[in-house]
Amino acid sequence: MFDHKKLGRELGLFGSDPLVGAGLPYWLPDGAVVRHELEEYIRGEERRAGYQHVYSPVLGKRELYEISGHWSHYSEDMFPPMQLGEEEVVLRPSLCPHHAVIYRSRSHSYRELPLRMAELGPMYRSELSGVLGGLTRVRAIQLNDGHIFCTLEQVADEARGALRLIRRAYQALGIEAARYRLSLPGAGGKYVAAPELWERSVALLTEVLESEGIEYQAEEGEAAFYGPKIDVQIRDSLGREATLSTVQVDFHQPERFDLHYIGADGAKHRPVMVHRAIIGSVERAVAHLIEQHGGAFPAWLAPVQVALLPVSEDELPQAEALRARCLEAGLRVELAAPEQGSLGARIREARLVPYQAVIGAREAADGLLALRLRDGRRLDPLPQGEALDRIAARVAARGAALWVD
Ligand SMILES: [Zn+2]
Repeated sequence: MFDHKKLGRELGLFGSDPLVGAGLPYWLPDGAVVRHELEEYIRGEERRAGYQHVYSPVLGKRELYEISGHWSHYSEDMFPPMQLGEEEVVLRPSLCPHHAVIYRSRSHSYRELPLRMAELGPMYRSELSGVLGGLTRVRAIQLNDGHIFCTLEQVADEARGALRLIRRAYQALGIEAARYRLSLPGAGGKYVAAPELWERSVALLTEVLESEGIEYQAEEGEAAFYGPKIDVQIRDSLGREATLSTVQVDFHQPERFDLHYIGADGAKHRPVMVHRAIIGSVERAVAHLIEQHGGAFPAWLAPVQVALLPVSEDELPQAEALRARCLEAGLRVELAAPEQGSLGARIREARLVPYQAVIGAREAADGLLALRLRDGRRLDPLPQGEALDRIAARVAARGAALWVD
């Protein structure tokens, strides 16, 4: 595996500045492309899985977190509150309280459940500066969060559905899980007290893991303060383990926010909240993708998908026309003109680009495209239109294979 910090700098994906602060990286254009594609992929998967997307603000009043329990159980990870006139506002340490309030903003019938709410939004963690670095430990996190409000009977199916979304995303992204962890509470006052609810949630998550045939390890002291979790663990280039994805069962926050739905009996009932993150933090997911692929991203995520390499100045007009056609087809393209160096040097420069097209006199005259794939394969020349169509189809398929015959 590669070190994402070193590679991220070399490939111009992200950077940081002491003036902005530790743990507050910025995304350069090529890194921003990867992030944007990843976010759009996740939104699409969520839409297909019946989620509705919302936006909510990065700040909330201190009272919001007192009600959610973050204030008493999680405050050491939170930024200090800001005084604003009579009010104290806090940079949010999670999205759950906002989503609970959105759920509460109107009444719900049991027919609307499970209600799946998702948001790719920022949250903040006051990590100590000593542990910060690259994209893996940051203070501003873009979270792929989602909350399912459902009945007790629906919890197992919803947790299962979330796990399946996670496993499908890993396949599309080429991410390998190191292991699955059932995260249980441990000793100490970090966890909300309600032994019978903890037992019930742990039983539900255990049932889900076993019915899916997933091997897992149960570990104490790793739960969220409000409930147990299934955590999907990944490993970085130094072999360190971190949680990327998670599915959690929560009886606590629905209680605290007094959430309810109207049942078939016409009476008020308490929903359960299932928290889930498919790729967790976008920063950590991209760091992992950089390390996993060594910068050679799957074609659909690649900052540049097609490199056009005219052999001499004579083929430049043809290359420029091709660039326009690539843009028209929605492909990210770069033209490396002869003035930028020898053909060999330009090919080396484009080595991470999935599709490279050398345009010589013959290709230009016949309207052909001779593609070289990033993995070293050289394809027979194809009519230009057909070559571009087939590249666009591979990109749209979001598969790992660069080419299919
Ligand atoms: Zn949550």
